[in-house]
Amino acid sequence: MRKRLLHLLGILTALLVGVLPACAQEASWTAPFPAFHIAGDLYYVGSQELAAYLVATPDGLILINSNLDSSPPLIRKSIESLGFKYADIKILLISQGHNDHCAGSAQILHETGAKYYVMKPDVDVVQSGGRTDFHYGRDESMWFDFTKVDRALSDGDQVKLGGAVLTAHLTAGHNKGTTTWTMDEVENAAPCTRSSSAEPP
Ligand SMILES: [Zn+2]
Repeated sequence: MRKRLLHLLGILTALLVGVLPACAQEASWTAPFPAFHIAGDLYYVGSQELAAYLVATPDGLILINSNLDSSPPLIRKSIESLGFKYADIKILLISQGHNDHCAGSAQILHETGAKYYVMKPDVDVVQSGGRTDFHYGRDESMWFDFTKVDRALSDGDQVKLGGAVLTAHLTAGHNKGTTTWTMDEVENAAPCTRSSSAEPP
């Protein structure tokens, strides 16, 4: 009986989550989540449901994803809670040129002087603040601040800093420049490969 009840609760929860409005979903995008170590020099610095990753090297930090325009203070807090300096971000990467993954870029680039590397098909989208997006371009609610891209990436390109080597993979998704990042990490002297992102929401 107890098992059945739990099962029923599970179904109800699934149904409720299915009908929650977008704004309810976004609450979890801005809700803080404790930063944590993943493996080697890779850390999680995102919110409850919007991922951001930090690669900490002796020559500075690589940040993957700036998220919403309201996210930079949260990301900064997460970076500092791990004992790193926000100003040490040297390279900013994203998983795709949509406002939930790159709207915070303008602020982070301005505050840290980091270089911005973006997959080629997303360069125009990102530099136009989302206005040239083939799908969302006419939707003002999806626009974000203009940014300048320092390096346009192609599939298979590598990003290197302080011994860290990240590889950019152009990935099928709901925009044209979705990027999966992979890198090798060593944890407890055992090499492992970590993928930073699959298809984001
Ligand atoms: Zn998207």
